Amino acid sequence: MDCDKCSEEAVLYQKYSGLHLCSQHLMESVEGKVKQTLRKHCDIQHGQKIGIALSGGKDSSVLLHIMHQVFGNWPDLKLVCISIDEGITGYRDPSIDMAIETTNALDVEHHVYSFNEEVGYTLDEISNLIGDEKTCRYCGILRRWILNRKSKELDLDKIAIGHNLDDESQSALMNFLDGDIDRMTRLGPEINTKTGFTPRIKPLREVPEREIGLYAKINNKIKAHFDECPYSNWALRQEARKILNQYESNHPGAKYSVLSSVDQIAEKLPQKNIKLQDCKTCGEPTTNTKCRACQLIKNLNKNRQNPSKP
Ligand code: SF4
Ligand code: ZN
Repeated sequence: MDCDKCSEEAVLYQKYSGLHLCSQHLMESVEGKVKQTLRKHCDIQHGQKIGIALSGGKDSSVLLHIMHQVFGNWPDLKLVCISIDEGITGYRDPSIDMAIETTNALDVEHHVYSFNEEVGYTLDEISNLIGDEKTCRYCGILRRWILNRKSKELDLDKIAIGHNLDDESQSALMNFLDGDIDRMTRLGPEINTKTGFTPRIKPLREVPEREIGLYAKINNKIKAHFDECPYSNWALRQEARKILNQYESNHPGAKYSVLSSVDQIAEKLPQKNIKLQDCKTCGEPTTNTKCRACQLIKNLNKNRQNPSKP
């Protein structure tokens, strides 16, 4: 089948748009969506220092590549990559190696932090203490905690994360099914400007995961790690992923509809003004006296001392 925009062979049928696209036009389509999100929702200004959370996986590698393409020649804008090594044997090491190779090639400042140093445990050790089912929950909370603290230490104006359309629509569905509309409004495109949090931007939020994967494979300048995390089978979102993929296959464009619903809800229901205080242990913003990360670390310390009572 030929590309609908030229005579080259198509590599993708974009069911939701009805277009067959060749490599070149797929790349243009992905870059166009990312650039539009950057323009409309990310408010990146001259003179800013922008962080990119880089795992070395396909999403964050594509994110870095396109952001470098867009902002690499702004003389007064600085891109800084942050990688977090959770300590997942056989999985994270090769992806961090790829991340380092990429930032070296692009000459982008890069900082690597580890769970082991920041939390006192690797994720593998955490999983042994608390069981596989809870591992993703601990991983997500602790990773966000490290990312926010380091973003402030590095004085970043914003931090870009590689959440794609699939991630965002899955989170929306999960929050909806949990009855957590407050959390759902936080998925909207508006930048969170709460004190104590480095604003997070999601330039890939309108690009389907499959297209990012293809982009990373087609573009020979991108080195990305494609393996699945060994704990991902336990991730709660796997169910939401299955439901949405099935629904998207029968009703092309469904994931975009979910995203559009989130944006409309977020616009109509502005985020609640939650009162935050400093965590007594680490100083990060929290609604309680201790933030969730410090509570989890306390649990881990207890479990280590008394493994028979998890
Ligand atoms: Fe962490 Fe779970 Fe993602 Fe693996 S799948 S990196 S454990 S959140
Ligand atoms: Zn804390």
